Parts: sequence; structure tokens; C-alpha cells
Amino acid sequence: MSEKQHTFEEITSHLVTSGFVYPGSEIYGGLSNSWDYGPLGALLKNHVKDLWLRHFVRGIEYNVQIDPAIIMNPKVWEATGHVANFHDPLVDCKYCHARYRADQIIHEQKSELDVDGMTQEQLNDVMQSGQITCPSCGKSEFTPIRQFQMMFKTFIGVTEDKQSVVYLRPETAQGIFVNFKNVMRTTRRKLPIGICDIGKAFRNEITPGNFTFRTREFEQMEIEFFFKPGEDQKWFEFYKENCKGFVEKLGLKDEKVRFRDHEPAELAFYSSATTDIEYFFPSLGWGELMGIACRGDYDLGRHMSSSSQDLTYLDPEDNTKYIPHVVEPSFGLDRLMLALCCDAYDVESLNDGKDERIVMHFAAEIAPYTVAVMPLSNKLNDQAKKVFDMVHTEYDAIFDTTGSIGKRYRREDAIGTPLCVTFDFESENDHCVTVRERDSMSQERVAIDELNDYIHRFVSKNRVK
Ligand code: ATP
Repeated sequence: MSEKQHTFEEITSHLVTSGFVYPGSEIYGGLSNSWDYGPLGALLKNHVKDLWLRHFVRGIEYNVQIDPAIIMNPKVWEATGHVANFHDPLVDCKYCHARYRADQIIHEQKSELDVDGMTQEQLNDVMQSGQITCPSCGKSEFTPIRQFQMMFKTFIGVTEDKQSVVYLRPETAQGIFVNFKNVMRTTRRKLPIGICDIGKAFRNEITPGNFTFRTREFEQMEIEFFFKPGEDQKWFEFYKENCKGFVEKLGLKDEKVRFRDHEPAELAFYSSATTDIEYFFPSLGWGELMGIACRGDYDLGRHMSSSSQDLTYLDPEDNTKYIPHVVEPSFGLDRLMLALCCDAYDVESLNDGKDERIVMHFAAEIAPYTVAVMPLSNKLNDQAKKVFDMVHTEYDAIFDTTGSIGKRYRREDAIGTPLCVTFDFESENDHCVTVRERDSMSQERVAIDELNDYIHRFVSKNRVK
């Protein structure tokens, strides 16, 4: 691997040109930092979700998965406080009218201040003190902070009036809380239980940006883990360990990942502890990938009083009744994918600097394609295609027939395919193919009959346990 640092722009432009990500609605000029995943991004996303499901749902005996709706009864968001409080502090530059989130711009220019612990008045005081300058025109006069509701509103049914207002969910978690009773009843499980969900969330961010790091539509992978009050610390530590294990399986470099415990002032009022997992993004610095929060009985308690439904749990062990407490590990899938791409990207020099290759060092398990199958000559297409068909039943694979083999290897390196399989003229006689490995570029002759087993062993060997 090279020691060279690559910029965020270099990496994200590679992601766009190679088909991981496309600008959203591109033929109409795009839409304010919205992005679509291309074939490679969609495969990468599937593999990260699969790994999350295997690690957190299948891998933890207490856990189950559900798939709740995006549009929920608006009373949900009144109960949770989102209608009243899910706001961002918005300011405009009085000169050039550029728009900013007060907490973000203060954090960028006065990193010594703990913005997460500041009230709106305190943020306003800093904005009005003349210490913050507008990044676009350099002046220091801003409008007072206005609170900007971040939930997307729409209407349900045919009438567009107050009664028909609904929101696109700003987090997946509440679909879990409102189904707590249903899941307990239908699964007949006891506590502890983890209810897991992967799905889209929507936030009308004031300043989306930095590619897919902050967008208005994104996917979350969340767990609400319910247990008896008093066991908070035990399950908090349990999930910290499990999240660490998950991040290791993804193959992110250790030195680029950190766990950051929230200071008391930064904690939400209902949270007794929160830890973020952060990644050191090129050019951007540390950014949050996920948060693990102890949420106590806040959410179930709010839903219980707003819905007038009994959401308590009768503990069969000691016949006590209580509202379960919760630990919430919440991953942002898109940010995680961006971190994985930044982590995997490298440009390596070859042949004593005469040549170079772009290579994405994805863990074999999550790379978009596991295998590329290539006939050495077009005359061998039909036989090579049979090998491809065999591999393709088991793995995401690509059949590539164009350009020299060297060029095809480079192409696969650049999208992170761990194995290339070449069918050559010898293959017809010895029923073997050449398998070339992405990182070491070493080659090996493998019998076609044993190819799927070989790939299976390769993926397992490269898996972090
Ligand atoms: P931030 O402080 O970056 O706005 P947050 O603390 O509000 O994030 P949470 O509500 O804890 O985020 O959401 C859990 C995860 O969802 C985050 O760690 C992040 O990975 C992801 N996420 C949140 N907002 C966005 C967004 N606008 N775009 C992409 N991912 C997001």
C-alpha cells in the first residue's frame, strides 16, 4: 500500500467516474447534494447491509429484525418531541445571504468551544460577537438564529390541509418503539430483546454536503435493545464491543477509527451515556459514523403517555412491571460506505514508478464484485462464459471481455474486485484457470471444478472473525 494521502475530491471523483455513485437527477442539472448509487455502490451497500444483518441480527441471539413504514401517524413525532424540537439553528450572512447552521460554522471556526453543549442563546451570542466570519464573503454580520424544522412534511390523501399533514421519518428508531408490544406478543420472547431495522430516513438539512456524508435522504441501520432497568451499563458495554467487532469485520484501518464518549454537557437530557464511532475522513477530519446511546425509558415512556397504551413489561422472573430501558446503536449506512471507500482507495506505483494503478482494498466480503471472469481471447468467450455462469450462481461476478488482460486487471483493481479469473488457451486442455489476487497481484492455477470452493476459502480466509 502507498503512504500517499489522497484528497476527498480525488476519491469522490473516482467514485462518480467508476459508477459507485451518480449525481441525483443529473440530466436535469442535479438536485442539491442528492446522490444515486450506481451498480457498484448498490452492490457495496447490499454487502454492508448483509454483514450488519449477520453480525447484529443473526449473530446476537436476542435480536430480531422488522421493517416498519416510513410514513407514520404524525402523533408519533409529537410524542417524541420531533415536531417541537427537531430544529437546526439557521443563520444568514447579512451581506452575501449565504446560509449556515450556526453550530457547524462555530465548530469549524472556534473548535475550542463545545457547541453541542451550548444553548441557542449562547450560539447566538457567538454568532453576533464578530468572531465568526462568513466563509463565502469574509464579513462578520449574521441574522439572529432562526429555528428550522428538519422534518420533511407532506400530505396524506387527497386534501392538503392541516389534518392531512404527515412527515417522512427523520430516523428509523420510532418504527421500532411503536412496535415494541407487537414484537413481544408475536415472538413470545422475554427481555432482553433487540429489534433491528434498516431503512431510509429523511432530514431537511440546511447545509447538506461533503458528498454522501450529509444528505437529505439516507439509510440507517438501527437497533433498539430493550432490557430490565439497571442493566444499562452492561448492555452499553456489550454493544460497544459488538460495534467494534462489526467495524473490524468491515476492515476499516484501526488508526482511522475512534470511539468518542460524549461529555456530560453534550448528552441528550434523557441519555446517561453516549459514544460515537468516528472515522478520520481525508480532507474533512473526524466525522461521526454512528452513535451508541443509553436512552433509558424515554421513548417508550413518551409513547405510553401519548398513546395511552400500556407499554410496560411484566417480568416473569420476579413478577414486576416496568418500562424497559434501551440501548440504541445507530449506524448511518451511507456515511459508513463513504468511510469504506475512503479507507479502501489507494494509488500504487508499479514497475519502479513507470506505471501506477488505482486500487480499492475492500475486504473480500464487501467488495462490489467478488470475482471477474475474463477470456484471454474472444475465441474463448463461450467456454469462459460457462465458468462465469458457475461462479455467478454463488458470488457477485462480472464477465469482462474487452481490452488487454492487463487493462482488465487495472479496471477490476480500481473497483476493488479481489479475484480475477482468466480462461486461456491452456484451460481447454487442463480444465484450469488462472486466478489473480488483487492486493498481492500473485497468480495461481486452479481447477475449474474447484473454483467455487477456492473462492469460498479465499473469502473466509480474508474474513476478520
Ligand atoms: P450529525 O451530528 O452528523 O447531524 P446526528 O448525531 O444527528 O448526526 P443521529 O441522529 O445520531 O445523527 O443518526 C445516526 C447516524 O445517521 C449518524 O451517525 C450518521 O451516520 C447518520 N446520519 C445522520 N444524519 C445524516 C445525514 N444528513 N446524511 C447522512 N447520514 C446521516
